[in-house]
Amino acid sequence: MGRKFFVGGNWKCNGTVEEVKKIVTTLSEAEVPSEDVVEVVISPPFVFLPLVKTLLRRDFSIAAQNCWVRKGGAFTGEVSAEMLVNLGIPWVILGHSERRLLLNESNDFVADKVAYALSQGLKVIACVGETLEQRESGATMAVVAAQTKAIAEQVTHWSNIVLAYEPVWAIGTGKVATPAQAQEVHFELRKWLQVNVGAEVGATTRIIYGGSVNGANCKELAAQPDVDGFLVGGASLKPEFIDIIKSSTVKTTA
Ligand code: PEP
Repeated sequence: MGRKFFVGGNWKCNGTVEEVKKIVTTLSEAEVPSEDVVEVVISPPFVFLPLVKTLLRRDFSIAAQNCWVRKGGAFTGEVSAEMLVNLGIPWVILGHSERRLLLNESNDFVADKVAYALSQGLKVIACVGETLEQRESGATMAVVAAQTKAIAEQVTHWSNIVLAYEPVWAIGTGKVATPAQAQEVHFELRKWLQVNVGAEVGATTRIIYGGSVNGANCKELAAQPDVDGFLVGGASLKPEFIDIIKSSTVKTTA
């Protein structure tokens, strides 16, 4: 079976109740390809998860932007995987570069989180990606392979993981990777999975691209053979997110 196109909308630390209602209304009114063609997952800040869950159209799903590395308890300020499951939130984003870099989350810590979240029944959008300095020094594949290896060492089943390749230099900067740059890393990541995890995992794991995706650049990126969708930050708060969801049809008409 083919890899179903996946579009995640990462709202990051943005929004008010009023804004959330407005965005969700825009999404509800939009005509988008069917669930057979595209899986859409919206990721609001923790505090808005219950509201979005109540209002969101039923063909879209929800992700948290993080969760604690183990069972909850005396961890002030954290939200556990168990709590997300209890709230009926099926997905969680882990290893976003903003957390890796600003909060010093290491490869091993991210991998621990991925393994624990999966063990609790959550599905995971696991993010990897290199900084500009790493790209310019030719270390892109070594960096994303090390990030993926840490996860692979802890995880046996990949069916509930979507791997998001998000070059740090492209996140929130307006500097999108070219389709060729994205395809090259996605191809290499898939090959890495094939060789190091297994042929089936390499062939079936969805590898999505994130970094300044917008309504204007999404189609060309979506047309790349190893780009299975997007993780979208800034543009997921705008009506053009609908155009990004619609770019999934590039795969069906290819
Ligand atoms: C992100 O936050 O994952 C992201 C890709 O952000 P942006 O689309 O704004 O670059």
